[in-house]
Amino acid sequence: MPLHLPAPEAPAAGPDGKGWNRLSLNAHGGFLAQCALRPRRWGALLESQDTRRARWGGFGPCIRRGQCDGCPVREALYGQCTVVPVNAPRVLVRVEPVFARDARFCGPDGYRLWITTGPDDRNYGDRQPWTWDQAARVQGWDIGRMYADEHGEGFWLERTTRVSALGCVITTRARPSFTRHAFRVARCRVASLHCAGECTHDTELLNAISHACPGPEGANEERVPVRWTQVPEMTPQPTGRIRFGVDVRPMTVQVTATEDTRCQMARLTLTGSGWTTERVRAAGEALRAHLADRAN
Ligand SMILES: [Zn+2]
Ligand SMILES: [Zn+2]
Ligand SMILES: [Zn+2]
Repeated sequence: MPLHLPAPEAPAAGPDGKGWNRLSLNAHGGFLAQCALRPRRWGALLESQDTRRARWGGFGPCIRRGQCDGCPVREALYGQCTVVPVNAPRVLVRVEPVFARDARFCGPDGYRLWITTGPDDRNYGDRQPWTWDQAARVQGWDIGRMYADEHGEGFWLERTTRVSALGCVITTRARPSFTRHAFRVARCRVASLHCAGECTHDTELLNAISHACPGPEGANEERVPVRWTQVPEMTPQPTGRIRFGVDVRPMTVQVTATEDTRCQMARLTLTGSGWTTERVRAAGEALRAHLADRAN
């Protein structure tokens, strides 16, 4: 995929009409070639995901004069994945332009990207801001819509099942006749998935279950706060040949997946006071979505 974006011959003004900042200019006042892996705004971040779409203009300068082989920017893309420091299905990244004191050019000299839980999050300053280069190295989150309010601009990141929930540790132990996956939050087991025989799922199922798991405040040995009367609303619909059952026990809730009414494929056991009806339903839906893949 093309990464090196040579500068156009004589650009008059930026595509956004705001002119160019000093990072776009070389020592002679010409324009620098750019790197498609170094987005400097939302549209370029989208383009950086598939650089065939990338056009010169919204990116940081190439640091290797077009020698993309062995370029540290490209190597960091695979070697230094940026972790989103929040356990949430989506985060709002606020983009703060940073201006130098002698602002001779119109554009900003740099940016700080703040990770927030949403428009009302006011405590995001406690987190370490990202550079744009770091934002380009986030994996497992989809780039969402642009966002703007009276405080400035930003964009959403949407978590996918390609990543597990922050703070949830998943371990897998395979035995001859079964496999058990354990989900721990703050060192306390909150869920375990028992797969009969060989697993019929990929890691996306495990990640999806981790998204449903409670945070540290709900990870404990207390009762699960759901009632048997809520079983119907927590039970996933059958899919293909797979049927589901939910069993509310004194200290646990179990979600089972059974194929062809005979053999149990998987059993998910949930423990701790953090398992609300919504979370149990989400864990069951994860099972339904990811076990279904192989059955059809
Ligand atoms: Zn380059
Ligand atoms: Zn490069
Ligand atoms: Zn499994």
